[in-house]
Amino acid sequence: MIPVNSLVISGPCSAETREQVLETALGLSKVGIDYFRAGIWKPRTRPGEFEGIGDIGISWMCEVRETYGLKIATEVAKAEHVELALKNNFDMIWVGARSTVNPFTVQEIAESLQGTNIKVMVKNPVNPDLKLWIGAIERIWKAGITDVSAIHRGFSVYEKTRYRNDPNWQIPIDLKQELPGIPLICDPSHIGGRAHLLMPLAQKAMDLNYDGLMIESHVDPSQAWTDAKQQITPAELKELLNSLTIRNRAAIDEDAMLAFREQLTQTDESIIQLLKNRMRISEQIGEFKKDKNHVILQSNRWEEALRNNVLKASAEGISEEFVTQLFKLIHQDSIRIQSDILSKDDRD
Ligand code: PEP
Ligand code: MN
Repeated sequence: MIPVNSLVISGPCSAETREQVLETALGLSKVGIDYFRAGIWKPRTRPGEFEGIGDIGISWMCEVRETYGLKIATEVAKAEHVELALKNNFDMIWVGARSTVNPFTVQEIAESLQGTNIKVMVKNPVNPDLKLWIGAIERIWKAGITDVSAIHRGFSVYEKTRYRNDPNWQIPIDLKQELPGIPLICDPSHIGGRAHLLMPLAQKAMDLNYDGLMIESHVDPSQAWTDAKQQITPAELKELLNSLTIRNRAAIDEDAMLAFREQLTQTDESIIQLLKNRMRISEQIGEFKKDKNHVILQSNRWEEALRNNVLKASAEGISEEFVTQLFKLIHQDSIRIQSDILSKDDRD
């Protein structure tokens, strides 16, 4: 089923030729998308690669709107792009990940938007920096634009992973917390980087109650001039959308759910009490070490305790990564408590 109440933005990574743009749009017009996207000016990592078809692409996009009645959208990276998009009545523009990182660029875009009210979307910056993402959104708001959405397209990491860009779902979740009400769109294409990863990523976004999807599509993906591996045909997009499971968005307030929440609250309280007890013990150890003039950190002992805890937790079906992180945090705070006790002694 096509995600009801969800926005679907699709189209090629880049506008390449008039035929490619129009044929892709024809396919998408049968899918039922909300916005037709295409990059006209492309920010490429290295010089000498295809840097976008440029202004001629605008006329192809306008033709898409006239022929198929689709709303049109493109990426802007400077004032000149914004002016051209506005002059040609684009329905939406977005700020790309490489622009969001640069406050000068975002400011230039924001100033050129002053006095207009086009729909704007802001992709997350390439680096995992929530404040930079929020800052870019605020600059666009300050220019008087009211219809601003955020696009989650993943974050760069140096190591090779199965994703082109690490999803780091916590950052968009935190964004929603900081800016309640901001529509959040997922871009599985730039997160996954490969077509077979689109479906699980799109499903995860729907499960996390995202407000829409931006997915790149191309009439002939293998021949695409940019991002060939991650593009799918309009027919494949239709299949993907149809196979998404859309869960109930209404707030759950049935008795069973209230009972679960109460159990969670009580369990959280127990966790707090246990942490308090543990910290007390750390304080006592600190005092003891102070008396004996002993170093705080005993690495072997700590590593052994961590190993044992991870083993015990795994046997209980708790994720190894989670337990490791949790005990590292607890240990850090225990060290902090003991250092405080020792340094207090130094000052006396
Ligand atoms: C794009 O949408 O084609 C694009 C360049 O994306 P990003 O800014 O996320 O890299
Ligand atoms: Mn792309």
